[in-house]
Amino acid sequence: MAKARVTEACIGCGACTGVCPEVFDLNADGVAENILGEEIPEDLVDSAKEAAETCPVSAIEVE
Ligand code: SF4
Repeated sequence: MAKARVTEACIGCGACTGVCPEVFDLNADGVAENILGEEIPEDLVDSAKEAAETCPVSAIEVE
């Protein structure tokens, strides 16, 4: 299992939710979060990394 998290740098633009909706969604505070918790399955790693590259403020960390 890999890990994906959204840092406090998130500005809530929503880009990641379009690229990888299986992992990222905006929460009640208007910022993105990993809706799966902390870990993500291997088959979503590429998509999560693509979302990280799309993020304008580099708020997504995938490891
Ligand atoms: S793309 Fe980045 S700034 Fe935009 S909602 Fe996702 S984590 Fe936040």
